[in-house]
Amino acid sequence: MPRGVKLDLEKEPSLKEQVITIPAPKTLPAPKMFASLRKKAAAAKVLERARIAEIVDELDGEPLYKKLKRFVSADALTLVAVCFDEDPMTSATQAVFRENAAKVLAGLDAAAHACRAVSKKIAAASREEFRYVPKNRAGVELLTAGDRYPAAVLLRRKWMEKGKSAGFIGGQACAALADAVTRGLAQNETVVTVAGNGASRWVNCRVRIGTPVRDVLAAGKLLPETSVVAVGSSVNGRSITNLSEPVTAATRCIIAMKGLPRRKTLPCVGCGRCERACPRGIIPWMILQQLELEEPNPFRLFNVEHCIQCESCSIVCPSGIHLVDAVRRAEKIKEGRENKGC
Ligand code: SF4
Ligand code: SF4
Repeated sequence: MPRGVKLDLEKEPSLKEQVITIPAPKTLPAPKMFASLRKKAAAAKVLERARIAEIVDELDGEPLYKKLKRFVSADALTLVAVCFDEDPMTSATQAVFRENAAKVLAGLDAAAHACRAVSKKIAAASREEFRYVPKNRAGVELLTAGDRYPAAVLLRRKWMEKGKSAGFIGGQACAALADAVTRGLAQNETVVTVAGNGASRWVNCRVRIGTPVRDVLAAGKLLPETSVVAVGSSVNGRSITNLSEPVTAATRCIIAMKGLPRRKTLPCVGCGRCERACPRGIIPWMILQQLELEEPNPFRLFNVEHCIQCESCSIVCPSGIHLVDAVRRAEKIKEGRENKGC
């Protein structure tokens, strides 16, 4: 049974034009440079380059070298470059892939060498994306992630169910590693999508890391009714009020909205949609039932610690119940951090 949620993907508006470059503020320091590495540099040297180039994986904000170091001990590892964005309005990594798939592949090669992966794969949103992949992609297989949200988590889960060992890194991190190895460039920029119903122009912007959100938002030509700005995701992003906040390597989108949607909450009708949507094997309706008891039993709050707060359960609930809040609360109870009713 397919997990996750089928959402309307709104990527085309931001993919219809090329990535634009936002001028870097003069206050930011010049990017760090190093000597390029030899083509056949040892794995340890590539790892060290990822470290000193300060490359951060946009998938989860983890430094790339730490991730690759961890992967070294995995048995028969397949390294997967995630070249799509699971968020329905974000297309930043997909745009990087379309712009220069050869660079992403070169970075994947270097990363696979660094962590001694035995095979490499490119995961893209759909088969159509493979037309951007160069013909001479020796030894790299292609995977399609599908269009269910959250696609990256579902992809990992599918892989785990097969019992195979795989490591996932972002397409932007791959491109940054290629630059660090071949051009000696530290990671100093990232591509960010500006979208949302408060933006009259949806666009992917190449941005120097450290640029204030305000400067990037301007590329979206905001409508006067815009009242909320969120970063991180159009589904469960974090709303911000300080537009001077800097863009980081893990900032994949900035969403401008006219307001937050309001939903009326009704009682649970027992449809089971939340359970089917959850990519982490949690049964949100059952968690809700436990929380309604006077003494919730922590031993019946199954898997709540595995919640990734993707909000799939809340999105599909026909009763408008904000299930992710219930799961969060259950997690605290399970950890003993919150007593009933607090
Ligand atoms: S319970 Fe957590 S992981 Fe499962 S769908 Fe809800 S938010 Fe996502
Ligand atoms: S989706 Fe909503 S209404 Fe359906 S079982 Fe889950 S909590 Fe109940």
